[in-house]
Amino acid sequence: MPSDLQALFERQRAHAPVMARTSAAERRARLAGLRRAIVARRAEIGAAVHADLRRPPAETEIAELHGVLAEIGVAIRRLPRWMRGTRAPTPLLLFGTSSRITYEPRGVVLVVAPWNYPFSLVVNPLIAAIAAGNCVILKPSEKTPATAALLARLIAETFDPAEVAVVQGGPDVATALLGLPFDHICFTGSTAIGRIVMAAAAKHLASVTLELGGKSPAVVDASADIAVAAERIVWGKFLNAGQTCIAPDYVHVHASRAREFLDAAKAALARLYGGSEEEREASLDFARIVDDGHVRRLKDLVDRTVAAGAEVETGGRIDAATRYVAPTILSNVAPDAAIMADEIFGPVLPVLAFDTLDEVLAVIRAGGKPLAMYIFARENAAIDRLLRETSAGATVVNNTMLHYASSALPFGGVGASGMGSYHGDHGFREFSHARPVTRQREPALIGFFFPPYRGRWHRLAMRVLRLLE
Ligand code: NAD
Repeated sequence: MPSDLQALFERQRAHAPVMARTSAAERRARLAGLRRAIVARRAEIGAAVHADLRRPPAETEIAELHGVLAEIGVAIRRLPRWMRGTRAPTPLLLFGTSSRITYEPRGVVLVVAPWNYPFSLVVNPLIAAIAAGNCVILKPSEKTPATAALLARLIAETFDPAEVAVVQGGPDVATALLGLPFDHICFTGSTAIGRIVMAAAAKHLASVTLELGGKSPAVVDASADIAVAAERIVWGKFLNAGQTCIAPDYVHVHASRAREFLDAAKAALARLYGGSEEEREASLDFARIVDDGHVRRLKDLVDRTVAAGAEVETGGRIDAATRYVAPTILSNVAPDAAIMADEIFGPVLPVLAFDTLDEVLAVIRAGGKPLAMYIFARENAAIDRLLRETSAGATVVNNTMLHYASSALPFGGVGASGMGSYHGDHGFREFSHARPVTRQREPALIGFFFPPYRGRWHRLAMRVLRLLE
């Protein structure tokens, strides 16, 4: 265990009771300070993410900065209400008492983040953790070093390290941090590492929020508006070059409309990124793959899937030197193709034709419960059946990814795609312990049920108890 990490942790642990006592005004001041720091460095954040992922700064504004600033706004507005807690009703048996659910911070929180949205997936959990009154250590991804370094500067300028600090490094540093007895760990990343994090948390009985990945399906029913479905799926898939946890991973399209869908998807791709392969490669609006390893992984997946009989409808070009993977659409993909085994996390969209919803349900259920599921249909029967017979972190009907943008909705996975959720009220609660406080006034009726358990009073008490069941 590096002694500096241990020392930082001890410092935060000693400071945690001070943070716990902060008023709504004090927490709001911290959140407002964070907002000022972000707004002041807005262009720098866009540039850092561009340096890491060659992502267009406009996309960072839309997909990261807007959400972060909106979350801060919601937290600042609602914090006094959150901190007041809620009154709970009193059952007849507890007549003479009153109860409230109060929220206390968990203590010292560790946030471990991935590289794909390297700013917001560090800062969004931080907002909720500060609102709830915790001390926080943030570990951004080592794969996006420009954003990680900027975050470290921004946080150091804004917070006392006894309250919030950034620790940079890769798996070794993450492993060292996981050895410390944090009260809560918020991990966003792959399901495989999520398992390691949960095992480490078990040693200290730390609570966990696991925001994981998986294959999020899109289903296009025969009743869907195909042009609309194709455009929205293409948008969701190719944003950030497919490196989005809630991107539609693959598409099931009703066989009767598969050709129409493929043509509409190609037309949408042309509108969004350019009509020819050359224009798309030159487009400033299309991001690059994070590192060489992922480029090789994607190339291998496409090669194996095509060798097994899939057709490249468009794209397919990969330039390892610039980490460019062309937006690619594959048709005629079998459910057991290589590309269907794990989350793709890149700009490759496999399209599978189906005849019955039973086939679709079998494929979806064969993977773990996905982080998101998208249904495109105009008839409610298909929507209802898909909702009833699957489980997913969230579902959007007739669009993709929109649920992420609402602070009113809990964002999180289920089963293999994670546990716990955050954003808005849900984030405050996730980083708090809900502590019920029951106050007894006199006289206390419960004395009626104390021993000895015999005699007239006892028989009467038992009768009353039954009446209250
Ligand atoms: P990852 O799991 O490889 O890494 C995530 C973080 O874990 C990084 O900070 C990394 O340094 C750290 N880490 C790596 N090895 C570790 C180890 N052995 N022990 C502890 N920590 C370790 O994930 P990634 O490649 O950065 O991100 C991609 C994955 O994240 C995808 O599966 C994606 O779906 C998922 N994701 C989920 C969400 C969500 O909100 N649910 C959001 C974004 C990404």
